[in-house]
Amino acid sequence: MTIQETLRKACSKYKLSPLDAEIILSLAGNMPKVYILAHPEKKLSPAQIKKYHSFAKRRSASEPIAYIAGKKEFFGLDFVVNKNVLIPRPETELLVEHAIERILNTKCGMPDVIIDVGTGSGNIIVSIAKNIPNKIKNKINFYAVDISKKSLEVAKKNAKKNKTDKNIKFIQSDLLEYFPLLAEKNKKIKNILIIANLPYVSSKIYHVNKNNLKFEPKNALISENNGLNHYKDFFKQLRYLSYKCYMLHVICFVEFSPEQKSEISRIITRYLPKAKSEFFKDLAGKWRMAELSF
Ligand code: GLN
Repeated sequence: MTIQETLRKACSKYKLSPLDAEIILSLAGNMPKVYILAHPEKKLSPAQIKKYHSFAKRRSASEPIAYIAGKKEFFGLDFVVNKNVLIPRPETELLVEHAIERILNTKCGMPDVIIDVGTGSGNIIVSIAKNIPNKIKNKINFYAVDISKKSLEVAKKNAKKNKTDKNIKFIQSDLLEYFPLLAEKNKKIKNILIIANLPYVSSKIYHVNKNNLKFEPKNALISENNGLNHYKDFFKQLRYLSYKCYMLHVICFVEFSPEQKSEISRIITRYLPKAKSEFFKDLAGKWRMAELSF
């Protein structure tokens, strides 16, 4: 069968859009998309056709391309993904950009420690580590934290793949649980930068978008109480951390869902009354991130 025939079949038999059909074929045949477009008459091997059928079937059941490909691009880097981790979202690049800016802005005092809470595939911490100069990077302790062992495995792979594994420690912890003791023991820690992209999807929004989200780990997406339960626990832990180590200066970036802005702002004031907070919109013009400092 030729490339053109295969593409036609993908659209009719599997009801794929032409764009999806091309992407799937490019993955199954291990050929760049431009090659597919330039050589419609080229014959495919039986192995390529077999793989293509299996990929096309998965795609027609709405499985995200990233899981079929086993990878996703984020912040210009390649990340391995599988069903144990959330697929990195483009809007999360906002957190990475702001975090890098803070780290390089020496007026704020360089962080001694950077913690990525709920690291998942490790996309945030790896992108940060990859994009700051070695001279600065080597003075900072990076921590990638997740409650899921399986996601930490993926994060480690991604750190290795992007040559940042020597810089990052991987810790299994329920949010910040691991850190008050560490900060208490190590009095040299003065500035901490925390980035948190916790599960924040409400059950209501999850059900509306179930078809797109059903392949991703539910416990990395959904949070009780309109999506804000994890953030409540997190801010409580943050309050405890700053109570235990009252000399600490903390900068913290959190990602949330646009409709949560006023509620999350209320929770921040309730748990961290001394924190200064600023809110930012993503590229789609929706509220997406808060920066706290105290
Ligand atoms: N942004 C993701 C979504 O809307 C959710 C990410 C998260 O819960 N941290 O699907």
